[in-house]
Amino acid sequence: MPRASGATPLFQRLCLIGAGLIGSSIARVAQERGDIARTVVAQTRRPETLQRVRELGFADVVEADAARAVQGADCVVLCVPVGAYAGVMRQIAPHLAPGCILTDVGSTKGSVLRDLAPLLPEGVHLVPAHPMAGTEHSGPDAGFATLFQGRYVILTPPEGSDPAAVEKIAELWRRCGSMVERMDAATHDKVVAIVSHLPHLIAFTICGTADDLAEETREAVLKFAASGFRDFTRIAASDIDMWRDIFLNNREALLEMLARFTEDAHALGRAVRYGQAEFIEDRIKRGRKIRRGLIERHQA
Ligand code: NAP
Repeated sequence: MPRASGATPLFQRLCLIGAGLIGSSIARVAQERGDIARTVVAQTRRPETLQRVRELGFADVVEADAARAVQGADCVVLCVPVGAYAGVMRQIAPHLAPGCILTDVGSTKGSVLRDLAPLLPEGVHLVPAHPMAGTEHSGPDAGFATLFQGRYVILTPPEGSDPAAVEKIAELWRRCGSMVERMDAATHDKVVAIVSHLPHLIAFTICGTADDLAEETREAVLKFAASGFRDFTRIAASDIDMWRDIFLNNREALLEMLARFTEDAHALGRAVRYGQAEFIEDRIKRGRKIRRGLIERHQA
């Protein structure tokens, strides 16, 4: 049912390709506010997800077919794992309406330009975006309307983008409660490699290392997990498809950060071996300083 809000909606027909954690959260904000879109279309492919999206009722129209879903939309948001973009784009490109804004929420941005730009029809505007908000949960049940509040959203419009289209996507995110920043795709990919992708790589690895331990030791790890290990397990519980795709689609930046991290970790290990207390203290102090900085910026 189209929304009944007094405010002028930003879009007439907003189409979300993918209705998991992020897509369903956008739909929920749109449903709550009423000034984001007159009609919200949610597309998802698997019958069980489709059924659940219908039951949850956060979209006006629910579609299984991506090509049909985008028809007549003035804004299309890709909310699927980044590895699925090229395939989805092949399906939807011929059906995107002239003047439509194509945006996304993907966690890697160089790959988005690589996969979407070559198939972009004339007259369709591409404005990639990445909300720096999420949880370790996935699927349509995991979404909630306050997910983006007080969080940053990074826009990476390619050079020569239509300023009006960029402004509309910025406004979409402001209406979701986010702070909007703009940077180029390569800078974005480096930043997220260190703040998000490397921490996930470390979390997956440390859980694997713990799992490889002898039975007796592994039991003790689980029993006494509150000492720090537990925080890694929360990150390591993330979605398989999404993280496989992120690692494969931000390869260069992630490997660069991993190499730097490995050097630094070895340096700290060396300080431990040779009893260099000052070096160790210095590393701990830097960690504490970064934590304080996050708290001051309300990002903790
Ligand atoms: P999600 O909860 O797992 O939902 C994924 C959605 O994409 C579902 O509707 C799923 O549909 C569909 N999908 C999965 N694989 C597909 C494929 N190969 N082809 C077409 N559709 C497919 O994922 P999410 O957490 O919302 O993540 C979506 C995007 O947001 C990703 O690009 C991710 O990088 C980005 N992101 C995530 C977070 C986070 O913390 N989760 C934060 C910021 C950005 P079916 O169930 O029908 O298969």
